[in-house]
Amino acid sequence: MALKQDVQAIKERVDLISLVSRYVTLTKSGSSHKGRCPFHKDDTPSFMVNGEKGLWHCFGCGEGGDLFAFLMKIERLTFIEAAQRLADEAGVSLSSSREDGEREKLRAVVAAVAEHYAANLGDTRQGAGARAYLESRGFDEAAWKRYGLGYALSGWDNVKRAFGGRFGQDALLQAGFLVEGEKGTYDRFRDRTMFPIYDVSGRPIAFGGRAFEGEPKYLNSPTTPLFDKSRFLYGLHWARDAMRDARCAILVEGYTDVLTLHQAGLANVVGSMGTSLTQGQADLLGRLVEEVVIAYDRDTAGGAGAVRGMQILRNSGLAVRVARLAEDEDPDSLVRKHGVDAMREAVRDAVPFHRFYLDALAAKHDPSSVVGKERVLAEARDFYRGVRSLPLQQEIARGIADLLDLPPEGVAHELAARPARRGADDPQGDETARARWGAEDDLLALLLRGDVDWTRVAAVASASDFSPAHRSIVEALANAPESPRISAWVVERLREQGHEAEAAVASYYALAPVEFADVERAFEDALDQAVRLPALERKLADVETRIRSAAAADDWEEWARLTREQQVLSLEKSSVAAERDARRGMHGRDKG
Ligand SMILES: [Zn+2]
Repeated sequence: MALKQDVQAIKERVDLISLVSRYVTLTKSGSSHKGRCPFHKDDTPSFMVNGEKGLWHCFGCGEGGDLFAFLMKIERLTFIEAAQRLADEAGVSLSSSREDGEREKLRAVVAAVAEHYAANLGDTRQGAGARAYLESRGFDEAAWKRYGLGYALSGWDNVKRAFGGRFGQDALLQAGFLVEGEKGTYDRFRDRTMFPIYDVSGRPIAFGGRAFEGEPKYLNSPTTPLFDKSRFLYGLHWARDAMRDARCAILVEGYTDVLTLHQAGLANVVGSMGTSLTQGQADLLGRLVEEVVIAYDRDTAGGAGAVRGMQILRNSGLAVRVARLAEDEDPDSLVRKHGVDAMREAVRDAVPFHRFYLDALAAKHDPSSVVGKERVLAEARDFYRGVRSLPLQQEIARGIADLLDLPPEGVAHELAARPARRGADDPQGDETARARWGAEDDLLALLLRGDVDWTRVAAVASASDFSPAHRSIVEALANAPESPRISAWVVERLREQGHEAEAAVASYYALAPVEFADVERAFEDALDQAVRLPALERKLADVETRIRSAAAADDWEEWARLTREQQVLSLEKSSVAAERDARRGMHGRDKG
């Protein structure tokens, strides 16, 4: 809460225009400023900054947000680092530094428990199982020491008893070592080989534990004040310098994959701790490298979660390739069986992620049959729409056209059938983008500019009436306080929730160069088109089904009632459509 107030204080004191002007030459254009985007190769100035709203957006590459987002992107900082820098400039003392005392205590707890785990592993009797496991994986005693490995004893309260007195149960709970059950607290990690997770300065902040048998095989510390898995990578502390030097990171799944590769001399390796990569992890990588090579085992890499993660990376501006490992091989087993050169080779021969995806599609469906072609197109649609780069979209369309032996234009058209509304579309830019701009976009633009209050939409619609891609924006709008700077509030809220892509989309709507000659009319029109008419159509379809089942059940009383309901709904629909047409007929369309 306190940090939130600091963020407000910073926003009030630091001027967005002068901050951006340090990096970009801006010229005044209407109520905004314009310049060449520093985040992509920008020939036409498509980078807009609005000082009054406190927002910026690039209509070329789709990046956007507030002053924190700008400094984070351009200087490759974390949110806290950017906030710290702006706070210094504004003369605000950050409450996060006031909270440092408490974090220090938690660090001491984690460090003490890490020592305890390490001592258990050294204990020849108790740690025998874990020692045997690690040795079978090629980790000797020197490696345990180097990577801080340990063993959590079996039993429900070893950590609780050993440290409860010294640090107190609350601190153990907060640091993630205890779980609250019905009969009180107990140890989270039991009978597991323990891998400490270090922060960038090399201090342990959390753990991953691997079970010998039973589930879950891997168990991580929960989110704590020190550790947030969605913004962290395992091994970053050891890999950071090598990643910077190579401008490339090799991303693997498990703890032993990371350690085996490090031990074999590949230093730019980090672990995603699970396969569903987050935007926070992509941002972390984006600050250090230009390229990521994914080295998951083959089934995992082809899975929907991994593919989504690759798209997040690609949409964050990183080049993404996938190492093609043999069936049933992971980086750990590959190095142990065939040596580190086999792994280097796999990294060198890694293919662009969309190539990998297309190969997987071709292997799954028979691209020579009509049904196979249809399946490939249907499955590729979401993939295609999830990619933000136009040249890459075209390459994907061409790849699929080749694979299916169909004309590329037809394939591109089919893949784009339901338009994805991404931040990169400039509604003034070209005809296709303008054609994609619809009633829902009108509504979002009107709401985010503060032209129309959410309560007026809430009277007839809810968040679920909007397309899924926009729901988190709409939910933020619904919770926003009355404020002349509503878009800045929404962008900040989305970032707090980790919805960074949606925050950029919100800045797009707030700054999109679309003019409404008559705000009231545009609003009514958009509401009819995006909400009222679709809702009536849904109700009509529902009544239609019920009429048919009433007839089938010989329930003519119900049939008559439903038929009347149907007439009322049809009338309502025609009158909404007639009103809309009258508005349009009288005034014509005048958006531009
Ligand atoms: Zn740009």
